[in-house]
This record gives sequence, C-alpha cells and structure tokens, in this order.
Amino acid sequence: MDNTSTLKRKHTRNVRAARVISAVLCIEQAVYGLAFAESGSLLQRIYFNSSLVLGFLFLITLLLPRLVPIKAGILYDLFDMVPLGVGLSIAYIRMLNAAKEYQNIPTIYLAVLFGGAVIFLLEYKQSIILYSSITVVSIIGSYSSLPLDSSIPFQADFLVNGAIAWAVSALTYASFLKTETQRELIEEKNRQLTQLSELDWLTNLYNRRKLDLYLVGFVQYRFAILFDLDYFKTVNDNYGHQKGDRVLVELASILLNTIAPNDVVGRWGGEEFLILTHEDGFALAEQLRKQIEVHRFVDDIPVTASFGVTSCKNKESIHELVRCIDLNLYQAKQLGRNQVVYS
Ligand code: GH3
Ligand code: MG
Ligand code: MG
Repeated sequence: MDNTSTLKRKHTRNVRAARVISAVLCIEQAVYGLAFAESGSLLQRIYFNSSLVLGFLFLITLLLPRLVPIKAGILYDLFDMVPLGVGLSIAYIRMLNAAKEYQNIPTIYLAVLFGGAVIFLLEYKQSIILYSSITVVSIIGSYSSLPLDSSIPFQADFLVNGAIAWAVSALTYASFLKTETQRELIEEKNRQLTQLSELDWLTNLYNRRKLDLYLVGFVQYRFAILFDLDYFKTVNDNYGHQKGDRVLVELASILLNTIAPNDVVGRWGGEEFLILTHEDGFALAEQLRKQIEVHRFVDDIPVTASFGVTSCKNKESIHELVRCIDLNLYQAKQLGRNQVVYS
C-alpha cells in the first residue's frame, strides 16, 4: 500500500486509539494499585509504574502530532506498534513478578491486551513482527527458570490469544483498506463531477455557473472586467470554427498566466470573459489588451478585444455591477474596439 492519504488516516486513527486506551489504562492501573494491592507490595509498585508508563504514553499521543504532523513515514509506522508493545510488556513484567496468587490476572490481562490490539490498524507485516516476537519471547520466558506456576497455561494463552489477535487485526486492516479504496474512488469521482460542473469544457476556465457564484461575493474584489473578442465571427468565417476554438484555448492560457492566483477568470459566454481582480483593473485590462493584440494566435490570426472595467466598490448589487461593465464594454466597441473603457 503506497497511498499517502490512506497511511495518514491509518496513523491518525492509531494515535487516537492509543490516546484513549492509554488514558483509560493509566487510571485503571492507578486505581488497582490503590484499592487492590497490598500497601508497599511488589504488585502495588508494578501497578503504579504501569500507570506512570501509560500516562507517559498518553502524553506522547498529545505531543507527538504537534511536534511532527501526522504523515506517512517510518516514525508513525513505529509509533503504531508502541501502544501494543507497551501494554504487553507491562503484562509480561507483572506475570514474571507477581506473587503466585496474582499470576492468573496477568494472563487475563494478556488476553485483553492482545484483543485490544485489534483496535489499532497494523499493516500485515507490522502485526506479524509484533505478535510473533512477543510470542517467542514469552515462550522462552516461560521455559526459563522463572518463578512461574506451571499449572497456569501461559504458553497456550500466548499462542492462542496471539493467533486470534493477529487474525482479527488482519481482518480489521483488510476492511479498512477496502473502505479507504472506496472512499478514494468516491472522492475522485466527486472531484471530476465538481470540475465538470464548474469548468468550461473548451477553455477549462470557470464556466458561467461558477462565475455567478463568485459574483455573489463581488465586494471582496477591487475591479470587475468584462471583455469580448472583436469581430470574432469573421475569424470563424475566415479560418473555420475549429481554429476559432483553438484561439479561445490559447487565449485562456494567456489569461491564466497573467492574472493573479487569487483572482477569478471565467468564460462569461461565447467569446466573452469575466475577470474579478484584487489588482488595478484598468492596468490589468490594458495589459491584457496589448498581450492579445501582439500574440500570434494559431496560424498568425490577428485578434483584438474590447474591455469594460468598473470598480466593485459602491455597487449595490450584482445586477448593477454587471450592467456597468456591460455598458463600458459596449462603449469600447462603439469607440472603435481594441480598447479599454473604465468608469
Ligand atoms: P464584435 O464582438 O466585435 O461586435 O463582433 P463579433 O463578431 O465578435 O460579434 P459577437 O461577439 O456578437 O459574436 C460572437 C461570435 O463568436 C459568434 C460565434 O461565431 C463566435 N463564437 C462564440 N462562441 C464560440 C466558440 O465556442 N467557438 C468558436 N469558434 N466561435 C465562437
Ligand atoms: Mg465579439
Ligand atoms: Mg460576443
């Protein structure tokens, strides 16, 4: 699996799971230490130290994402295995150190912790490494000369619970991957649909529908510019409709290269384009007019455009704004085309 956003979601979920589990177990261990263990006993020390370690783990889950943003990478790959490793180590230490009468508690603990592991999303490789190494270490431990009650079936516990935990976490992970793949597909389809509904099919600029949405927030911009190509019908008549289309596509790339990234440009209709800008509208229109005039479109087709510019301030409504730039554009045509009229 190499999808970065999927990995990121996996790590995010694991950090959250570790946070909740370590907080709950931290409190639980402290309460056990206070309520159930004999004061000053080894078991009480183990409870309290476990509580400290789990509290520390809880702090790490709070601090780590702030220091290193959650992302795909070896750090979070390793972190995914830490909570389970910590939990199992604590259970293991308790099993080796607790007095005989408590030895059965850690085995139950192990079952719970192994079972709890399925809350974490571990990749197949990670979970095999984790479960098998802990199982091996535990079996070696139980064969060594440690003071364990041999009537309690530690090995079986380790093997059975480990196998169950591994199977369940593999299934959990498989279903996570499936959901993620579906989510990616849906997101991709949504992106495509959004593009289709917002962009003009020929020029890839915003279409009229999207421009109407931007116009709702016209007060955020300094100037609105509407321009129309001059005698474009003649271009079609002389060079053909297809070359006319290519002129529009080339024009679109001039526009995108010229206007600022947070300005808006779209196809208002036919060969008319609307710009909403934070810059000086007259200067921008004049710059575009000159660029279009000197540009060599397709097979050296001469193209010019007429511009209407108006300020977005002091306009009561979209209607008034559009009427104003439309009027100025009309004026520019009347005055002989290839010019900018500003009011
Ligand atoms: P002017 O604006 O200077 O008054 O003259 P004009 O010839 O450009 O007139 P007008 O703006 O009214 O005509 C627009 C022409 O643009 C009509 C149509 O053939 C052409 N046109 C509109 N949309 C497209 C398009 O998508 N592709 C092509 N090739 N031509 C288009
Ligand atoms: Mg025209
Ligand atoms: Mg027109």
